[in-house]
Amino acid sequence: MTPRIQKLSLLLANQIAAGEVVERPASVVKELLENSLDAGATRIELDVEQGGIKLLRIRDNGCGIAAEDLSLALAPHATSKIRVLEDLEHVASLGFRGEALASISSVSRLTLTSRQVDAHQAWQVTAEGVGINRQEAPAAHPPGTSIEVRDLFFNVPARRKFLRTEKTEFDHVFEVIKRLALSRFEVALQLRHNGKSVLSLQEACDEASRARRISQICGAAFVESSLKLDVERSGLRLWGWLGLPSAARSQTDLQYFYVNGRMVKDRLVAHAIRQAVQDVLPHNKHPAFVLFLELDPGIVDVNVHPTKHEVRFRDSRAVHDFLYSTLYQSLADVRPGDQLARTG
Ligand code: ADP
Ligand code: MG
Repeated sequence: MTPRIQKLSLLLANQIAAGEVVERPASVVKELLENSLDAGATRIELDVEQGGIKLLRIRDNGCGIAAEDLSLALAPHATSKIRVLEDLEHVASLGFRGEALASISSVSRLTLTSRQVDAHQAWQVTAEGVGINRQEAPAAHPPGTSIEVRDLFFNVPARRKFLRTEKTEFDHVFEVIKRLALSRFEVALQLRHNGKSVLSLQEACDEASRARRISQICGAAFVESSLKLDVERSGLRLWGWLGLPSAARSQTDLQYFYVNGRMVKDRLVAHAIRQAVQDVLPHNKHPAFVLFLELDPGIVDVNVHPTKHEVRFRDSRAVHDFLYSTLYQSLADVRPGDQLARTG
């Protein structure tokens, strides 16, 4: 007999949605950090215990959440970032799907504490799986928001089983932090693991402090053996640091490319970079770079998929040509005839 159709419970629906975006502690960190940035935070602190499996706690000084909206923040498809379809055309926030907190709270023990700047006090809501034990209470907290995520996948043993060692999970968390730290120089960031400070970044608003942040994240050797570029042409701007051949790596582990402040991993971009540098790189080596492409948000779609890092450019040909020629030329301008002499 054909089974009858039933509506999924809210909890189960959220857990299934969580399957899409919450793979491991690092994916939780990405969502929480993006929320803090969307809230305009200029200072973010992250505490991680046991690779984030036991605890992730993020505290920001952003705009906070109104007491009346606190529980709503944990509801699926609830967002303050868009209202109507047209908003999608020019969405400037990192999130807008209203899924992250609902998903995360369905697979962890979550506490959300928040206070708006002009509010008398903070409010707190806890959730252990949606609909279970959800309470609201006043709390002490400076303006901003704290979110604590404990025991990830405590109620989904099948997912918990796929978590790796504490060290591996922390490496993934660290990578997410680095990516975001490179995209927002103006935000101060503190990262602690098991009570020990791992990364402490001051806000970096001038040239020298930006370079310092790059060297804290990518290593001093990278900054010393890279060229700083900033080129603008027909509405496209490319700036950042491109590693010289001496900074080339045997892995693709130092490749950060941002489109309008968002990290992307895109085939078109990768292809343009590879073509521009291939002649000067030693065999089997990969370029190192931290590059920022800025262009009119109307001619690029960076919201193709919540977890993939693809982009769609309206005129992909023009973008490819611009990236290729800018990088090729920048390298060619450096000490011509020296170690950069092209072989091809
Ligand atoms: P989205 O980011 O797609 O809107 P989320 O589930 O990540 O969805 O968050 C839901 C809502 O909760 C957000 O739209 C925002 O209004 C609020 N929120 C979440 N985190 C924060 C934060 N750190 N500071 C202020 N508001 C927040
Ligand atoms: Mg979000």
